[in-house]
Amino acid sequence: MKVFVTGGAGYIGSHVVKLLGEEGHDILVFDNLSTGHEWAVLYGRLLKGDLADRDLVRDALDTFRPDAVIHFAASIQVEESVREPLKYYRNNVINTLNLLDAMLETNTTRFIYSSTAATYGIPETMPIDETAPLRPINPYGASKVMVEQVLRDLAPAKDFQYVALRYFNVAGAASDGRIGQAYAEATHLITRALKVAKGEYKKLFIYGTDYPTPDGTCIRDYVHVEDLALAHLLALRYLMDTGRPDIMNCGYGHGFSVREVVEAAKTITGIDFPVEEAPRRAGDPPALIADSTKLKRVTGWEPGHDDLRHIIKTAWEWEKKRI
Ligand code: UDP
Repeated sequence: MKVFVTGGAGYIGSHVVKLLGEEGHDILVFDNLSTGHEWAVLYGRLLKGDLADRDLVRDALDTFRPDAVIHFAASIQVEESVREPLKYYRNNVINTLNLLDAMLETNTTRFIYSSTAATYGIPETMPIDETAPLRPINPYGASKVMVEQVLRDLAPAKDFQYVALRYFNVAGAASDGRIGQAYAEATHLITRALKVAKGEYKKLFIYGTDYPTPDGTCIRDYVHVEDLALAHLLALRYLMDTGRPDIMNCGYGHGFSVREVVEAAKTITGIDFPVEEAPRRAGDPPALIADSTKLKRVTGWEPGHDDLRHIIKTAWEWEKKRI
């Protein structure tokens, strides 16, 4: 299969490219390398470009003629989205419209979309299934809801076929140690904790200890990046087979509090790194736990890395290799 992957040099994208490459697919990565890295693209070709450049995207699709597009390129930090909403609407909404335009112009109609649990906001029931109302509480989540709406409208109008995967908290690194998370500024909990353990930052802040959760800190459903990558491959197969538009959660169905993650990180690293309690971070819902029954039922997804210690261990192995 020929697959065009935007953001394929980034954290999740590069793991999906690795899996696609290992299965022998033909890949063209389109990435502006703003947060991604050339070295992370282990298979296929990399075209450095920005989705703001509509002509470039269209020409790339026109030349490559993919069977499907997987769209990772996006801004993804909740707290930054609260401070810089326009960056999020421009990058996540307008640039996605550019990509969709280019797809229609080149008759490319199969699309896997990176959505997020942040679309749900503060859910009324837990675990969350796909029928829960979408009430995002930050611009990041809102930008993803907007594109989901666009896709919902586009599907019947243009016979456009898509699967949107709503990711919960992605973490960990490739089991063979070749790739992992490598943002210049680490804001995600597990990566940040490990960087503190390494001494790259002085201490870890726990943002908020007064949430309505058993230990007062936020609960998240941490999913290993290789299980998430597998979900993309299965979703793609499902789309090629059925052509049926759909939206599916991807998480394990159980969560860990910030304190539990911090304790696990200390145990695995063997380092009692400094931790300080701090006020809440803007835009954070108290708890997000996935009901992924649909993903399992529809695509046959069976996670292989559902173990917080293993997730942290792979991330730690990766982190230790980085300067
Ligand atoms: N968090 C924290 N300290 C950090 C980074 C994150 O306490 O240095 C908390 C954050 O407030 C949230 C949870 O960890 O409750 C997960 O945050 P992350 O940024 O990893 O993912 P998000 O759920 O925001 O996508």
